[in-house]
Amino acid sequence: MPPFTIDPFSHYLGYLATDQETLRELLDSYNGLIVPGTIAAWQQQGTGGFVTTLSALPQAPPYLIDPRSPLFQQGLPGAKASHVALADLLGDPGLVQIRDPSPTDFDDQRLSVIAEHWVEFNTVYTDLPSDKTLDKYARRLKEPIAPHNRQAPEGILPPYFAASGMDDDWWELSKVLFDLTEARAQIPCYRVVCAQDSAALDELLADVDDNQVVVWVSGLDETKAEVSALATYREAIAAATSRDQKTFALYGGFFSVLLRGAGLRGSGHGVGFSEHREWRELPASGAPPARFYWRRAHRFVQPDLAQNLYEQEPSITDCGCPHCDGRGPIELKYHDLMKHSVWCRDQEIQTFGGVAPEAAAQVLRDEYDALEAQIGELRLLPAVRSRARTQIAHLPRWADALS
Ligand SMILES: [Zn+2]
Repeated sequence: MPPFTIDPFSHYLGYLATDQETLRELLDSYNGLIVPGTIAAWQQQGTGGFVTTLSALPQAPPYLIDPRSPLFQQGLPGAKASHVALADLLGDPGLVQIRDPSPTDFDDQRLSVIAEHWVEFNTVYTDLPSDKTLDKYARRLKEPIAPHNRQAPEGILPPYFAASGMDDDWWELSKVLFDLTEARAQIPCYRVVCAQDSAALDELLADVDDNQVVVWVSGLDETKAEVSALATYREAIAAATSRDQKTFALYGGFFSVLLRGAGLRGSGHGVGFSEHREWRELPASGAPPARFYWRRAHRFVQPDLAQNLYEQEPSITDCGCPHCDGRGPIELKYHDLMKHSVWCRDQEIQTFGGVAPEAAAQVLRDEYDALEAQIGELRLLPAVRSRARTQIAHLPRWADALS
Protein backbone atom coordinates (compact mmCIF):
# COMPACT_ATOMS: atom_id res chain seq x y z
CA MET A 1 0.00 0.00 0.00
CA PRO A 2 1.30 3.45 -0.89
CA PRO A 3 1.96 4.93 2.57
CA PHE A 4 4.40 2.10 3.23
CA THR A 5 5.80 1.27 -0.19
CA ILE A 6 6.47 4.44 -2.16
CA ASP A 7 10.12 5.15 -2.90
CA PRO A 8 11.94 6.94 -1.60
CA PHE A 9 9.35 8.20 0.92
CA SER A 10 5.62 8.71 0.77
CA HIS A 11 4.33 12.25 1.18
CA TYR A 12 0.77 12.58 2.47
CA LEU A 13 -1.14 15.77 3.05
CA GLY A 14 -3.84 16.45 5.59
CA TYR A 15 -7.07 17.63 4.00
CA LEU A 16 -8.66 20.99 4.78
CA ALA A 17 -11.31 22.64 2.62
CA THR A 18 -9.14 25.74 2.22
CA ASP A 19 -6.43 23.65 0.59
CA GLN A 20 -8.49 22.32 -2.30
CA GLU A 21 -6.67 24.51 -4.84
CA THR A 22 -3.25 23.28 -3.71
CA LEU A 23 -4.40 19.66 -3.60
CA ARG A 24 -5.84 19.91 -7.12
CA GLU A 25 -2.91 21.66 -8.75
CA LEU A 26 -0.01 19.89 -7.09
CA LEU A 27 -1.03 16.30 -7.76
CA ASP A 28 2.54 15.56 -8.85
CA SER A 29 4.02 16.75 -5.55
CA TYR A 30 2.34 14.43 -3.04
CA ASN A 31 1.25 10.81 -2.84
CA GLY A 32 -1.90 10.71 -0.79
CA LEU A 33 -4.41 12.43 1.45
CA ILE A 34 -5.33 12.01 5.07
CA VAL A 35 -8.83 13.25 5.77
CA PRO A 36 -9.50 14.14 9.43
CA GLY A 37 -12.55 12.23 10.70
CA THR A 38 -13.92 15.41 12.24
CA ILE A 39 -13.99 17.18 8.88
CA ALA A 40 -15.17 14.08 7.03
CA ALA A 41 -18.07 13.80 9.48
CA TRP A 42 -19.01 17.46 9.66
CA GLN A 43 -18.59 18.50 6.01
CA GLN A 44 -19.73 15.19 4.56
CA GLN A 45 -20.86 16.54 1.21
CA GLY A 46 -18.07 19.04 0.59
CA THR A 47 -15.21 16.89 1.84
CA GLY A 48 -16.57 13.65 0.43
CA GLY A 49 -17.38 15.36 -2.86
CA PHE A 50 -13.90 16.77 -3.26
CA VAL A 51 -11.97 13.75 -2.03
CA THR A 52 -13.89 11.15 -4.00
CA THR A 53 -14.00 13.25 -7.16
CA LEU A 54 -10.25 13.70 -6.96
CA SER A 55 -9.92 9.95 -6.42
CA ALA A 56 -11.53 9.31 -9.83
CA LEU A 57 -8.68 11.00 -11.72
CA PRO A 58 -6.21 8.71 -13.47
CA GLN A 59 -3.35 10.15 -11.36
CA ALA A 60 -5.53 10.13 -8.23
CA PRO A 61 -3.92 10.29 -4.82
CA PRO A 62 -5.18 7.52 -2.53
CA TYR A 63 -6.65 8.59 0.79
CA LEU A 64 -7.20 7.45 4.34
CA ILE A 65 -9.64 8.80 6.91
CA ASP A 66 -8.15 9.42 10.35
CA PRO A 67 -10.78 8.65 13.01
CA ARG A 68 -9.27 11.29 15.32
CA SER A 69 -10.60 9.23 18.21
CA PRO A 70 -8.15 10.47 20.90
CA LEU A 71 -10.44 13.48 20.87
CA PHE A 72 -12.84 11.46 23.01
CA GLN A 73 -10.21 10.62 25.63
CA GLN A 74 -10.81 14.03 27.14
CA GLY A 75 -13.70 16.13 28.33
CA LEU A 76 -14.87 18.51 25.63
CA PRO A 77 -16.62 21.38 27.42
CA GLY A 78 -16.16 23.55 24.34
CA ALA A 79 -17.04 20.85 21.81
CA LYS A 80 -17.15 22.03 18.20
CA ALA A 81 -19.83 21.05 15.72
CA SER A 82 -17.29 18.74 14.04
CA HIS A 83 -16.66 16.90 17.35
CA VAL A 84 -20.39 16.29 17.79
CA ALA A 85 -20.71 15.20 14.15
CA LEU A 86 -17.89 12.66 14.56
CA ALA A 87 -19.39 11.24 17.78
CA ASP A 88 -22.76 10.88 16.02
CA LEU A 89 -21.10 9.20 13.07
CA LEU A 90 -19.47 6.71 15.44
CA GLY A 91 -22.93 5.88 16.77
CA ASP A 92 -22.07 7.19 20.24
CA PRO A 93 -23.15 10.81 20.90
CA GLY A 94 -22.09 10.32 24.55
CA LEU A 95 -18.44 10.43 23.39
CA VAL A 96 -18.76 14.19 23.69
CA GLN A 97 -18.94 14.97 27.38
CA ILE A 98 -17.75 17.67 29.71
CA ARG A 99 -15.60 15.60 32.06
CA ASP A 100 -12.54 13.54 31.17
CA PRO A 101 -13.68 9.94 30.58
CA SER A 102 -11.98 6.92 32.12
CA PRO A 103 -10.95 3.80 30.18
CA THR A 104 -13.46 1.88 32.31
CA ASP A 105 -16.23 3.85 30.60
CA PHE A 106 -15.56 1.82 27.46
CA ASP A 107 -16.86 -1.74 27.65
CA ASP A 108 -16.67 -4.14 24.72
CA GLN A 109 -20.24 -3.43 23.69
CA ARG A 110 -19.51 0.28 23.37
CA LEU A 111 -16.26 -0.31 21.48
CA SER A 112 -18.09 -2.67 19.18
CA VAL A 113 -20.65 -0.01 18.23
CA ILE A 114 -17.85 2.48 17.48
CA ALA A 115 -15.93 -0.01 15.34
CA GLU A 116 -19.05 -1.04 13.44
CA HIS A 117 -20.02 2.54 12.61
CA TRP A 118 -16.49 3.41 11.55
CA VAL A 119 -16.23 0.48 9.16
CA GLU A 120 -19.64 1.36 7.74
CA PHE A 121 -18.63 4.99 7.14
CA ASN A 122 -15.42 3.99 5.36
CA THR A 123 -17.29 1.43 3.29
CA VAL A 124 -20.00 3.78 2.00
CA TYR A 125 -17.77 6.87 1.77
CA THR A 126 -17.79 7.11 -2.01
CA ASP A 127 -21.59 6.86 -2.10
CA LEU A 128 -22.27 9.69 0.34
CA PRO A 129 -21.86 12.77 -1.90
CA SER A 130 -24.88 13.67 -4.00
CA ASP A 131 -24.67 13.77 -7.81
CA LYS A 132 -24.98 17.55 -7.65
CA THR A 133 -21.96 17.79 -5.34
CA LEU A 134 -19.93 15.48 -7.55
CA ASP A 135 -20.77 17.57 -10.62
CA LYS A 136 -19.63 20.70 -8.85
CA TYR A 137 -16.22 19.25 -8.00
CA ALA A 138 -15.79 17.66 -11.42
CA ARG A 139 -16.31 21.12 -12.98
CA ARG A 140 -13.63 22.56 -10.70
CA LEU A 141 -11.22 19.84 -11.72
CA LYS A 142 -11.99 20.67 -15.36
CA GLU A 143 -11.86 16.98 -16.16
CA PRO A 144 -14.64 14.53 -16.96
CA ILE A 145 -15.16 12.23 -14.01
CA ALA A 146 -16.63 8.77 -14.41
CA PRO A 147 -18.49 8.13 -11.13
CA HIS A 148 -17.55 4.46 -11.15
CA ASN A 149 -13.88 5.47 -11.04
CA ARG A 150 -14.28 6.96 -7.58
CA GLN A 151 -12.03 5.10 -5.18
CA ALA A 152 -12.76 3.93 -1.65
CA PRO A 153 -10.20 4.72 1.06
CA GLU A 154 -7.04 2.69 0.46
CA GLY A 155 -7.46 1.18 3.90
CA ILE A 156 -9.16 1.75 7.22
CA LEU A 157 -7.42 3.40 10.14
CA PRO A 158 -9.30 1.82 13.07
CA PRO A 159 -10.20 4.08 16.00
CA TYR A 160 -7.42 4.33 18.58
CA PHE A 161 -6.39 6.19 21.71
CA ALA A 162 -3.17 7.88 22.79
CA ALA A 163 -1.21 5.69 25.20
CA SER A 164 1.62 6.36 27.65
CA GLY A 165 2.91 2.80 27.44
CA MET A 166 1.99 -0.87 27.31
CA ASP A 167 0.43 -0.78 30.77
CA ASP A 168 -1.85 2.12 29.92
CA ASP A 169 -5.49 0.97 29.88
CA TRP A 170 -6.10 3.18 26.85
CA TRP A 171 -3.61 1.01 24.95
CA GLU A 172 -5.62 -2.10 25.74
CA LEU A 173 -8.75 -0.37 24.43
CA SER A 174 -6.91 0.60 21.25
CA LYS A 175 -5.99 -3.01 20.64
CA VAL A 176 -9.59 -4.13 21.15
CA LEU A 177 -10.82 -1.42 18.77
CA PHE A 178 -8.33 -2.58 16.16
CA ASP A 179 -9.45 -6.21 16.41
CA LEU A 180 -13.14 -5.31 16.31
CA THR A 181 -12.62 -3.09 13.26
CA GLU A 182 -10.45 -5.55 11.41
CA ALA A 183 -12.95 -8.34 11.99
CA ARG A 184 -15.63 -6.33 10.15
CA ALA A 185 -13.56 -4.62 7.46
CA GLN A 186 -13.47 -5.74 3.85
CA ILE A 187 -10.32 -3.73 3.10
CA PRO A 188 -6.94 -3.64 4.89
CA CYS A 189 -6.74 -2.02 8.31
CA TYR A 190 -3.66 -0.09 9.39
CA ARG A 191 -3.13 0.32 13.10
CA VAL A 192 -2.36 3.80 14.40
CA VAL A 193 0.04 3.66 17.33
CA CYS A 194 -0.30 6.97 19.13
CA ALA A 195 2.37 7.37 21.82
CA GLN A 196 2.01 10.15 24.34
CA ASP A 197 5.77 10.76 24.05
CA SER A 198 8.68 9.37 22.08
CA ALA A 199 9.80 7.18 25.01
CA ALA A 200 6.58 5.14 24.81
CA LEU A 201 6.73 4.46 21.08
CA ASP A 202 9.19 1.57 21.09
CA GLU A 203 7.33 -0.64 23.57
CA LEU A 204 3.99 0.02 21.88
CA LEU A 205 5.35 -0.92 18.47
CA ALA A 206 7.02 -4.01 19.91
CA ASP A 207 3.68 -5.07 21.43
CA VAL A 208 1.94 -5.53 18.06
CA ASP A 209 2.85 -7.91 15.30
CA ASP A 210 1.55 -5.87 12.34
CA ASN A 211 4.08 -5.41 9.58
CA GLN A 212 2.65 -2.01 8.56
CA VAL A 213 1.97 0.55 11.28
CA VAL A 214 1.01 4.22 11.30
CA VAL A 215 2.85 6.05 14.09
CA TRP A 216 2.15 9.29 15.88
CA VAL A 217 4.21 10.70 18.74
CA SER A 218 1.92 13.24 20.34
CA GLY A 219 3.23 16.80 20.48
CA LEU A 220 6.63 16.03 18.93
CA ASP A 221 7.54 19.40 17.46
CA GLU A 222 10.72 18.54 15.58
CA THR A 223 11.97 22.13 15.60
CA LYS A 224 11.65 22.43 19.39
CA ALA A 225 12.31 18.87 20.60
CA GLU A 226 15.43 18.00 22.56
CA VAL A 227 18.04 15.81 20.91
CA SER A 228 17.15 12.96 23.29
CA ALA A 229 13.46 12.95 22.29
CA LEU A 230 14.34 12.95 18.59
CA ALA A 231 16.98 10.26 19.04
CA THR A 232 14.52 8.11 21.00
CA TYR A 233 12.02 8.50 18.19
CA ARG A 234 14.63 7.50 15.60
CA GLU A 235 15.65 4.46 17.66
CA ALA A 236 12.02 3.30 17.97
CA ILE A 237 11.60 3.55 14.19
CA ALA A 238 14.89 1.72 13.61
CA ALA A 239 13.87 -1.04 16.04
CA ALA A 240 10.54 -1.45 14.21
CA THR A 241 12.40 -1.66 10.91
CA SER A 242 14.64 -4.39 12.32
CA ARG A 243 11.46 -6.35 13.20
CA ASP A 244 10.28 -5.96 9.60
CA GLN A 245 7.62 -3.45 10.64
CA LYS A 246 7.14 -0.75 8.05
CA THR A 247 6.23 2.59 9.64
CA PHE A 248 4.49 5.70 8.35
CA ALA A 249 4.25 8.85 10.50
CA LEU A 250 0.85 10.50 10.66
CA TYR A 251 2.62 13.82 11.28
CA GLY A 252 6.13 14.83 10.44
CA GLY A 253 8.35 17.59 9.16
CA PHE A 254 11.73 17.45 7.49
CA PHE A 255 13.25 15.47 10.37
CA SER A 256 10.80 12.69 9.57
CA VAL A 257 12.09 12.63 5.98
CA LEU A 258 15.59 12.15 7.40
CA LEU A 259 14.26 9.14 9.33
CA ARG A 260 14.05 7.35 5.99
CA GLY A 261 17.56 6.28 6.93
CA ALA A 262 16.11 4.52 9.99
CA GLY A 263 13.43 2.89 7.86
CA LEU A 264 10.49 5.31 8.15
CA ARG A 265 8.52 4.92 4.90
CA GLY A 266 6.66 8.21 4.76
CA SER A 267 4.93 10.95 6.67
CA GLY A 268 2.00 13.30 6.50
CA HIS A 269 1.51 16.95 7.35
CA GLY A 270 -1.07 19.67 6.97
CA VAL A 271 -0.65 21.99 4.00
CA GLY A 272 1.34 24.96 5.25
CA PHE A 273 1.43 23.87 8.90
CA SER A 274 0.66 20.93 11.25
CA GLU A 275 3.87 18.98 11.06
CA HIS A 276 3.07 17.79 14.58
CA ARG A 277 -0.01 17.40 16.69
CA GLU A 278 -0.91 17.05 20.34
CA TRP A 279 -3.47 14.32 21.05
CA ARG A 280 -5.20 16.55 23.58
CA GLU A 281 -7.34 19.09 21.79
CA LEU A 282 -6.27 22.58 22.80
CA PRO A 283 -8.57 25.55 22.56
CA ALA A 284 -7.67 27.33 19.32
CA SER A 285 -9.19 30.27 17.59
CA GLY A 286 -9.34 29.61 13.87
CA ALA A 287 -6.63 28.47 11.53
CA PRO A 288 -3.01 29.45 12.27
CA PRO A 289 -1.61 32.35 10.23
CA ALA A 290 0.02 31.41 6.94
CA ARG A 291 3.75 30.80 7.31
CA PHE A 292 6.57 30.78 4.82
CA TYR A 293 8.49 27.55 4.39
CA TRP A 294 12.19 28.40 4.66
CA ARG A 295 13.69 25.69 2.54
CA ARG A 296 17.30 26.05 3.64
CA ALA A 297 16.30 25.82 7.32
CA HIS A 298 13.66 23.14 6.53
CA ARG A 299 10.96 24.79 8.63
CA PHE A 300 8.11 27.29 8.61
CA VAL A 301 8.85 30.85 9.72
CA GLN A 302 6.92 34.10 9.93
CA PRO A 303 6.75 35.72 6.47
CA ASP A 304 8.02 39.08 7.80
CA LEU A 305 11.25 37.50 9.08
CA ALA A 306 11.77 35.66 5.80
CA GLN A 307 11.14 38.93 3.94
CA ASN A 308 13.78 40.72 6.03
CA LEU A 309 16.33 38.08 5.14
CA TYR A 310 15.26 37.98 1.49
CA GLU A 311 15.63 41.75 1.09
CA GLN A 312 19.18 41.61 2.42
CA GLU A 313 20.24 38.47 0.58
CA PRO A 314 17.76 36.64 -1.69
CA SER A 315 19.85 33.46 -1.72
CA ILE A 316 18.99 32.87 1.94
CA THR A 317 15.32 32.21 1.25
CA ASP A 318 15.76 30.94 -2.30
CA CYS A 319 13.64 27.88 -3.03
CA GLY A 320 13.85 27.34 -6.77
CA CYS A 321 10.13 26.65 -6.92
CA PRO A 322 7.82 27.69 -9.75
CA HIS A 323 5.23 29.15 -7.38
CA CYS A 324 7.35 31.97 -5.95
CA ASP A 325 8.73 33.03 -9.30
CA GLY A 326 11.34 35.36 -7.80
CA ARG A 327 8.90 37.12 -5.47
CA GLY A 328 9.68 37.83 -1.83
CA PRO A 329 7.91 35.92 0.95
CA ILE A 330 5.41 38.66 1.81
CA GLU A 331 4.47 39.11 -1.84
CA LEU A 332 3.12 35.57 -1.97
CA LYS A 333 -0.61 35.08 -1.72
CA TYR A 334 -2.04 32.40 0.58
CA HIS A 335 -2.25 29.66 -2.05
CA ASP A 336 1.24 30.48 -3.36
CA LEU A 337 2.64 30.09 0.16
CA MET A 338 0.87 26.75 0.44
CA LYS A 339 1.98 25.46 -2.97
CA HIS A 340 5.53 26.62 -2.29
CA SER A 341 5.57 24.62 0.96
CA VAL A 342 4.25 21.40 -0.61
CA TRP A 343 6.62 21.73 -3.57
CA CYS A 344 9.59 22.28 -1.23
CA ARG A 345 8.79 19.17 0.83
CA ASP A 346 8.51 17.10 -2.33
CA GLN A 347 11.93 18.36 -3.44
CA GLU A 348 13.37 17.63 0.00
CA ILE A 349 12.10 14.08 -0.26
CA GLN A 350 13.63 13.64 -3.71
CA THR A 351 16.94 15.09 -2.49
CA PHE A 352 17.22 13.51 0.96
CA GLY A 353 15.03 10.40 0.76
CA GLY A 354 17.96 8.12 0.03
CA VAL A 355 20.73 9.86 1.96
CA ALA A 356 22.41 7.91 4.76
CA PRO A 357 21.95 9.40 8.26
CA GLU A 358 25.61 10.36 8.72
CA ALA A 359 25.69 12.15 5.38
CA ALA A 360 22.41 13.92 6.12
CA ALA A 361 23.76 15.03 9.51
CA GLN A 362 26.78 16.54 7.79
CA VAL A 363 24.58 18.41 5.31
CA LEU A 364 22.59 19.86 8.21
CA ARG A 365 25.74 20.97 10.03
CA ASP A 366 27.15 22.54 6.87
CA GLU A 367 23.89 24.35 6.16
CA TYR A 368 23.74 25.60 9.74
CA ASP A 369 27.31 26.96 9.52
CA ALA A 370 26.58 28.66 6.20
CA LEU A 371 23.34 30.25 7.43
CA GLU A 372 24.89 31.30 10.72
CA ALA A 373 27.72 33.03 8.86
CA GLN A 374 25.34 34.73 6.42
CA ILE A 375 23.01 35.92 9.17
CA GLY A 376 26.05 37.33 11.00
CA GLU A 377 27.05 39.38 7.97
CA LEU A 378 23.65 40.86 7.09
CA ARG A 379 22.66 44.37 8.11
CA LEU A 380 19.82 43.35 10.43
CA LEU A 381 18.34 44.88 13.55
CA PRO A 382 19.67 42.96 16.57
CA ALA A 383 16.17 41.65 17.37
CA VAL A 384 15.74 40.37 13.80
CA ARG A 385 19.18 38.75 13.80
CA SER A 386 18.34 37.03 17.05
CA ARG A 387 15.01 35.77 15.65
CA ALA A 388 16.77 34.45 12.57
CA ARG A 389 19.29 32.57 14.71
CA THR A 390 16.49 31.04 16.78
CA GLN A 391 14.94 29.71 13.58
CA ILE A 392 18.03 27.70 12.61
CA ALA A 393 18.91 26.39 16.09
CA HIS A 394 17.23 23.04 15.44
CA LEU A 395 19.62 22.10 12.61
CA PRO A 396 22.55 20.97 14.80
CA ARG A 397 20.06 19.21 17.15
CA TRP A 398 18.68 17.25 14.22
CA ALA A 399 22.22 16.37 13.15
CA ASP A 400 23.04 15.12 16.66
CA ALA A 401 19.84 13.09 16.83
CA LEU A 402 20.76 11.33 13.58
CA SER A 403 24.30 10.45 14.59
ZN1 LIG B 1 8.96 28.91 -3.61
